[in-house]
Amino acid sequence: MLESTIAGSLPKPDWLAEPEKLWAPWRFQGEALTLAQERAAAEWIKHQEDAGIDIVTNGEQFRIHFVHGFLEHITGIDWDKKTAMGIRDNRYTVQVPTVTGPVSRAKSVHLDEVRFSRARTDRKLKFTLPGPMTICDTIADDHYGRRGDMAMAFAEILNNEARELEASGVDVIQFDEPAFNVFMEDVKEWGIDALHRACEGLKCTTAVHICYGYGIDENLRWKDTLGREWRQYEEIFPALNASRIGQVSLECAGSHVPLSLMGLLKDKDVLVGSVEVTAARVEDPAEVAATIRSAMRHVDAERLYPCTNCGMVPIPYEVALGKIKSLAAGASLVRDSL
Ligand SMILES: [Zn+2]
Repeated sequence: MLESTIAGSLPKPDWLAEPEKLWAPWRFQGEALTLAQERAAAEWIKHQEDAGIDIVTNGEQFRIHFVHGFLEHITGIDWDKKTAMGIRDNRYTVQVPTVTGPVSRAKSVHLDEVRFSRARTDRKLKFTLPGPMTICDTIADDHYGRRGDMAMAFAEILNNEARELEASGVDVIQFDEPAFNVFMEDVKEWGIDALHRACEGLKCTTAVHICYGYGIDENLRWKDTLGREWRQYEEIFPALNASRIGQVSLECAGSHVPLSLMGLLKDKDVLVGSVEVTAARVEDPAEVAATIRSAMRHVDAERLYPCTNCGMVPIPYEVALGKIKSLAAGASLVRDSL
C-alpha cells in the first residue's frame, strides 16, 4: 500500500548535458552518448532503489525533451522547418519542428533503453511517453489540418511503441498530457479517445500524467494568474474516471488544486504529487506525510501512490535526489502509522 513512484524525469548529471536547462544539448555523440546515458540512468535507478521508491523510472536520461525525444525518430516531420508556436495556449513560445507528411515509426524509439533499464532493477518499472494531445501542442502541423486527426495518427504510433515496451517487461506505461489542463474541451471531444487508441490492447498498468508543468519561471508566472483555486481538473476528471486509463497522476503539493477534486477519480488509482518540483527547497518527510494524509481524506489508501508533482529535469541534481528520499520516507511514515 502507498507505493511511491515519480512522475518520470530526473535531472541529467552535468557531465551528460548542461544542467538546469530544458532541451540542453548533449556533451557526447554516437556510441559515447549511449554509454553516458546508460551510466546516468543506472545511477538514477540505484538512487531510487536506495531511497525506497517502489516503482522506478530511468529518469528519462536518454531523451533531450519529453516530447521531442520521441519525435526525433518519427518520419513525416521536417526538423529544419521550424515554426514559432505559443505552446500550452501561448504560455511560452518555442521554435518547433513541423509535420509535413503522414507520420510513421520505422522502428522502436525506446526499446534499447527499456531493455537496459529492465535489466538494472527488480522493482516495478514505469516508462513515460508523451501523450497524443501534448505532442500536437509541441509541434506545428502543415499536413493534417485538424489537431484531433493528427493526434490520432500519433496515438497509433504510440500504441505500437507501447506494445513493444510492454513486451520488454515494463510494468506501467504513462502518457504525459500536461496539455489536458489547458484544452479541457478538446480532452472531452478527442483527447481521451486518442489516449484510448494509444493504450489499445495493453495489459500492463496504464497511466496519464496531468500537471501544471515544470518548476520553471514561465510556469510559475502562469500559475500566478490562475487565481486562488485551480479547478481545471474538475472539467476533465469525470471523463477520465469513466475512461479505460488505470491511473491518473496529478499535482497536489503546494498547489492551489482543491484536494476534494481527487474525489472525482473514485474508480482510478491516483498518483498524488507529494513533493513540489521547484528548485527552492527539499520538503522534509513529515511534510510529505502530511500531504499524503490530506489526500487520504479523498482517495482510499489502496488507490493512492505518493508521487512527484511533475518531472524534475530542470532542477539541480542534488535537490531532486533529496526530494526522492523525502518522498519515499514520507510514504513510509504514513504506511507505518496505518
Ligand atoms: Zn508534469
